Amino acid sequence: MKKTVLSCIQPTGEMHIGNYFGAIKNWVALQDQYDCLYGVVDLHSMTMPYDPKELRANTLRMAIELLACGIDPERSILFVQSMVPEHTELNWVFNCVTSYGELSRMTQFKDKSEQLESSTGKFVSAGLFTYPVLQAADILVYRADFVPVGKDQEQHLELSRNIAVRFNGQFGDCFPEPQPLFTKVPKVMSLADPTKKMSKSLGDKHVVGLFEEEKSLRKKVKRAVTDTGEATGDEMSPGVANLFSLLEACEKHDEHAELMNAYREGALQYGPLKGVVADALVELTQGFIARKAELEKDPGEVERLIARSSERARERAKLTLDQVRKLTGLPVL
Ligand code: AMP
Repeated sequence: MKKTVLSCIQPTGEMHIGNYFGAIKNWVALQDQYDCLYGVVDLHSMTMPYDPKELRANTLRMAIELLACGIDPERSILFVQSMVPEHTELNWVFNCVTSYGELSRMTQFKDKSEQLESSTGKFVSAGLFTYPVLQAADILVYRADFVPVGKDQEQHLELSRNIAVRFNGQFGDCFPEPQPLFTKVPKVMSLADPTKKMSKSLGDKHVVGLFEEEKSLRKKVKRAVTDTGEATGDEMSPGVANLFSLLEACEKHDEHAELMNAYREGALQYGPLKGVVADALVELTQGFIARKAELEKDPGEVERLIARSSERARERAKLTLDQVRKLTGLPVL
């Protein structure tokens, strides 16, 4: 029996190379070894201000992009969170075994609520506060064994374990304690400001889209900041380190070794380094762009595929909810 892996992504704007190298590439690889469920978590996107029309379009686009990257619905389940209502049902049950105090300690809530309070809207929803409880439901509704996480999500996963343990203690054995699955993934920095993590929120010039057309991709790499002007002594500057890390992420090991030797000998020229990085990224993204274009020809077919896959997710989630209803004193449907 393969162990179960669960991982989710919010349907934000187009995927960038940071998302790919930092998360999705690993999702694709995990399919060989695990029983994988991947979710596009549209309900989580509602916790911050958003546009309903965009949410719907972004959800479909994210599903298309995941398929284009190599998530294989024959081997894995690719679901949309709101199409599996058991997530929200379990969320309610878990809300009742989660304390206000432990939610108040979540650093992501503190960061995001401060961010909201300092912007014009100022409305901090209860949904944002209980976001990690829904996340626990996402994981535990499938009784996932492993969750690939970055450092920023470790606290939420620990909460999921606490919820599982508390539920089991209070009502009877039902949930495993999901464990983090750490994989070495690169942190991709902005090309325009390599001291910051590549993120959409920094603005377009900071981000290289995974489906970006060749011309603008090459332009962004060409303009990549190599020297930030700070005296770094013997250390490689963050911009150059980022370019090397991208080469490695693209699995261009020979080119990486050759250019690293040039660097050590003090003979590295940034122009050729950027050229090799741009070539590697173009080579990688061309296949993705072609697959995305193919899928976009028939969005109805993608929607049907997602509906079927979400239905498979639902069948599994329902089994958990049946047991939860029995254990908690609710009528079994
Ligand atoms: P986000 O939409 O920012 O929540 O990111 C979705 C996934 O991509 C998460 O697993 C992030 O850890 C990962 N990710 C986002 N930006 C980067 C980056 N610049 N480098 C590496 N991983 C990233």
